[in-house]
Amino acid sequence: MLFCPECGKLLMPKEENKRPKLVCACGYSVTEKDDLLIEETLGKVEKIEIVDARKEVNTLPKIAQECQKCGNKEAFYWTVQTRAGDEGETRFFQCTKCNNRWREY
Ligand SMILES: [Zn+2]
Ligand SMILES: [Zn+2]
Repeated sequence: MLFCPECGKLLMPKEENKRPKLVCACGYSVTEKDDLLIEETLGKVEKIEIVDARKEVNTLPKIAQECQKCGNKEAFYWTVQTRAGDEGETRFFQCTKCNNRWREY
């Protein structure tokens, strides 16, 4: 769940011109790709909320994972429960060096 930084209310997911967006009743909206990952599963589009790395990444645990982009061997990781629930948790990684992000398949 993501909350409005302006008024603290819950942000509602919305799609505008095929681009995901989170909007608040007060008029605040976020369209940044960093905050939302769109995953297509069986033709359905699911929105997955991931942590806001700009604020929280430094508190995340690290794991030995090789970054495909820069070859660094350490990455932060976190897990996200998909809304469908039957897929279980998905693990996401972020390189500690170049901040490249990827998910575990
Ligand atoms: Zn608001
Ligand atoms: Zn990297």
